[in-house]
Amino acid sequence: MEKHIGSCRCGDIEFCFDNDPINAIFCYCKDCQALTGSDKWFGLWVRPENFAFTKGTPSSFTRLGDSGKEVRYQFCGTCSTALCAEVAAGNFYSVSATSLKDNKFTPKMSIYASSAPVWAIFPNDVPKYEVLPPR
Ligand SMILES: [Zn+2]
Ligand SMILES: [Zn+2]
Repeated sequence: MEKHIGSCRCGDIEFCFDNDPINAIFCYCKDCQALTGSDKWFGLWVRPENFAFTKGTPSSFTRLGDSGKEVRYQFCGTCSTALCAEVAAGNFYSVSATSLKDNKFTPKMSIYASSAPVWAIFPNDVPKYEVLPPR
């Protein structure tokens, strides 16, 4: 079983997850823009039971998602690197692909395209959804 290892910029916080993610997305929602200071968040969706923090304790911030359920962001309180968002509605962690030591994953879809800034950049070889893909 493959282990994927990541950390924040300063090294106070480390995490890992097992198995490949169930999805890999570029999210262009307003919250992801604020979180990253960019047009999008590159998130790897990992089941909670496959994810663990292995060093340090992250700071967190919780908001209500569109579903009415909680989204809990976890980040380093020292260097402020965003590490993951715990999405209660979908029972997954959206892990920052950027914080992996060796990221081999590529996005499978773009979501919340309707919230993207006019200068956003979309990959043209993956499906793009105004909000979320139909269930
Ligand atoms: Zn840090
Ligand atoms: Zn988002």
